[in-house]
Amino acid sequence: MPFTIHGLPVSQGIAIGHVHLVSHAMLEVNHYHVAVKYLPEEVERLNEAVATVQGELVGLKAAATAGQSHSEVGAFVDLQLMMLADPMLIDAARHLITERRCNAEWALVQQMELVVEQFEQIEDPYLRERKADVVQVIERIVKVLLGHPGHLPPKRRDGLGTIIVAHDLSPADTIGFRDHNIGGFVTDVGGPTSHTAIVARSLRIPAVVGLHHIRQLVEEDELLIIDGTRGVVIVGPDERIVEEYRLRRSELELERSKLNRLKDTPATTLDGEDVKMLANIEGPKDLNQVKAVNADGVGLYRTEFLFIGRDALPDEDEQYEAYRAVLKSLPGKPVTIRTFDVGADKALNGVGARFEPNPALGLRAIRYSLAEPQMFKTQLRALLRASVHGQLRVMIPMLAHAHEIDQSLQLIAKAKAELDAEGLKYNPRLEIGGMIEVPAAALALGMFIRRLSFLSIGTNDLIQYTLAIDRSDEAVVHLYDPLHPAVLKLIAGTIQAGARFGLPVSVCGEMAGDPAYTLLLLGMGLRNFSMHPGHILEIKQQVLRADLNELAPRVQRILKMDEQAKVRDAVMRLAG
Ligand code: PEP
Ligand code: MG
Repeated sequence: MPFTIHGLPVSQGIAIGHVHLVSHAMLEVNHYHVAVKYLPEEVERLNEAVATVQGELVGLKAAATAGQSHSEVGAFVDLQLMMLADPMLIDAARHLITERRCNAEWALVQQMELVVEQFEQIEDPYLRERKADVVQVIERIVKVLLGHPGHLPPKRRDGLGTIIVAHDLSPADTIGFRDHNIGGFVTDVGGPTSHTAIVARSLRIPAVVGLHHIRQLVEEDELLIIDGTRGVVIVGPDERIVEEYRLRRSELELERSKLNRLKDTPATTLDGEDVKMLANIEGPKDLNQVKAVNADGVGLYRTEFLFIGRDALPDEDEQYEAYRAVLKSLPGKPVTIRTFDVGADKALNGVGARFEPNPALGLRAIRYSLAEPQMFKTQLRALLRASVHGQLRVMIPMLAHAHEIDQSLQLIAKAKAELDAEGLKYNPRLEIGGMIEVPAAALALGMFIRRLSFLSIGTNDLIQYTLAIDRSDEAVVHLYDPLHPAVLKLIAGTIQAGARFGLPVSVCGEMAGDPAYTLLLLGMGLRNFSMHPGHILEIKQQVLRADLNELAPRVQRILKMDEQAKVRDAVMRLAG
């Protein structure tokens, strides 16, 4: 019997396909049932992989002892060897293969999750963190198994795509979908402005999150429909429901193609004000979409996506090539590149091992960059070198203190001096701007305005930090409210201060791409909207219908309201 589950819609569109269950720790792990006749072979496959890893660990220990490196290496290898011998781990996985016909990778990951859960119950923080060793040792075995594939079940030939079902997915996992022809994804946890959701929108794959127990409710290969516009997931639909959704999908495509007529229309309000429609991108791969809607430029290039989900960091040349590619393909248009905003949910590989009591309040964005000055300077050099290829502007994320800008400007000066000495060219007048996404910055704008050439409001974080709500936690997502009077005051105050001091201000958080807020932001005085290119035409349609003379006084009245319900009503009436 088909059944329906409701969650949070985070990426529009309809996907119809077969379930592929994944564990967030190792996306590449296949889950399938092994045919009975192959079960002994599957156990042997596991045994051999375990033996290979044992050999690797023993070799590692011998090398560490010979090189007289730290005794910690030996201790950590011993711990992992002990884990391999623990019946809770490998024996239990063998049991899952023979009893439940799980493939070896799936059996290992299931068992790993169980053991990790037990570690999480431990009170002693040191012992609790040993769960990282369990994960590492299992990862080693899985890597070996991936090099020796087993007997995968034959693929379905009904032409439908794959739908990923996971407890949670990191932004790095999600980027990987690009190369795997994934039709959509659903998760137990997550919020609409999490970076995973942002990546889903950028890849244009429908997604629904915050479904709580979907992983337990579906089976590998089961048929699933995702309605990423309404936040609905249908498990096991019959042919009639599938047809209905195919029809709905065609209707949505038709609506989108109608909007295409606005592609070359300038975004001008009824009373003649020009509004800039800028795009948010994650790399050169998004350029086709930017051009397809004829965006006025790039308002936010999230460069951290060059850094996450890989073992080695991109060097200066690799970064330079990526930045140059974007600048070259948008001649005459501004391209705002944000320095890497790693940390929190965009952790670098290997960095997750550091225990952070509260990652969103920890070492992320500019804080991380300044803590790793070499890595930061490499990026600044790449940006400076790329600056001769177009209208580059560089933007620094998550500023809260003047000294963060001062230190960044010093590093930029140092990078310029190096390039001078090496005879490499750059634009000496390169503009440096900053993101306003911490309430402290929005309340003390003077020090930012004095030092920077432009500002961009990151509403995703500004809302998260103003209302103390983790943007990726579905348990508090109902409290994440862009229309909270405090949030509106901070946004409006920043836009007005920019206008007073002649500093361009944009909004590049998800609010800029949501048609529910376009008139409100226009009425506050915003003239630069930066959003996922997929939203540009819809927002342009709103701009074309707006009369600012009429909107501005109404929005001023909204800004004086201090009851959320009244604000909501008044904002809805702006469109009426
Ligand atoms: C924001 O916080 O609004 C923003 C645009 O930055 P990010 O979503 O990458 O944190
Ligand atoms: Mg942000």
